[in-house]
Amino acid sequence: MISQEMYELGSKRSVIREIFEFGKKRAAEVGAENVYDFSIGNPNVPAPESVKRAIIEILEDEDPVAIHGYTSAQGDFDVRKTIAESINKRFKTNFNADNLYMTMGAAASLCACFKAIANSGDEFVTFAPYFPEYRCFVEAMGAKLIVVPAQIENFQIDFDEFEKRINKNTKAVIVNTPNNPSGIVYTEETIVKLADILKAKSKEYGHPIYLISDEPYRELAYDVEVPYLTKYYDNTFVCYSYSKSLSLPGERIGYIVVPDEMEESRKVYAAVCGAGRALGYVCAGSLFQKVAAKCVCDTSDISIYKKNRDLLYDGLIKLGYKCVKPEGAFYLFPQSLEKDAYAFCEKAKKYNLLLVPGDDFGCPGHVRISYCVTTEQVIKALPAFEKLAKEYAK
Ligand code: PLP
Repeated sequence: MISQEMYELGSKRSVIREIFEFGKKRAAEVGAENVYDFSIGNPNVPAPESVKRAIIEILEDEDPVAIHGYTSAQGDFDVRKTIAESINKRFKTNFNADNLYMTMGAAASLCACFKAIANSGDEFVTFAPYFPEYRCFVEAMGAKLIVVPAQIENFQIDFDEFEKRINKNTKAVIVNTPNNPSGIVYTEETIVKLADILKAKSKEYGHPIYLISDEPYRELAYDVEVPYLTKYYDNTFVCYSYSKSLSLPGERIGYIVVPDEMEESRKVYAAVCGAGRALGYVCAGSLFQKVAAKCVCDTSDISIYKKNRDLLYDGLIKLGYKCVKPEGAFYLFPQSLEKDAYAFCEKAKKYNLLLVPGDDFGCPGHVRISYCVTTEQVIKALPAFEKLAKEYAK
């Protein structure tokens, strides 16, 4: 007998995938250039040239057996050291190789952290709108996801609602800034307040409440600073990924930081190693560990995303849509023009506009627009958004 839970998880497609598949079908009917597919968060900006150069250099210069061989379970020592030094330089932290664990991207980083700390009955709190996979990751570890409703005026944290949901079973709080799907970056004020509450509540309950910072979009921020969370709260895990920063989502590479400042840091790091072992997340792809280290100072050309953000945000506001201006990632999260975001997305399909309802992100009445597409597509889509708005104005 197979696991019913896993069967159900594997048998149903996510809403985003459903829309993406619909888009492919529609493209075959009307031509790909006439379908405005804003459904999926796959970077359309190519990886920087330095990635290609790094791959060639590694293949030409290094021992071919070692390139494709196993590294240590937690990742190559020199790679971890190089990345730790680069973080220290940027954020004035004090990490070394032993604070890092290399992973297959942010999803694996999150799962390894969750597995390392979760006991049955534990609660993990997150803030709407949130990345829907959190639920499946948290529940797979036998824990429960608790969602704090969105503060839709600005998508910062609603602290009153947060405090109502924090209790002695709270094991961790997950934050994602810049955020998928709102594109919002938490202000320093928000982070300081969150850290203060976590310190007070950890003391009150007599155990640490961990902060888990899911940051695949850290480098995709437009003219704002993204606070480095270990500097505000000691019991913070950083879950990083190169999927978006270097446009390498298919290569599956990222890391976890467990800072020395964390309570019983070495024990927690050992638990992360144990979680990696139990989940089979050992020895992240060796070639791309080395590429990440060689490209440690590089980022994809985010000016393209910024241009798309400006065109789309300004265009939608002019057409009467309501939207909080995103400062990062490559998503816009406007309100749908009717309460039911599913019905709104269905109407949008008439104009070949593919949008994702906010319900799965814990925020009904909104839609996600992934603008990691060509600028030409953004420009061509604006008249379609106009026709859609006019349908509601009637
Ligand atoms: N967290 C968030 C908020 C994401 O948007 C994504 C991917 O889109 C992930 C985690 C997973 O990232 P990765 O591809 O590095 O596993």
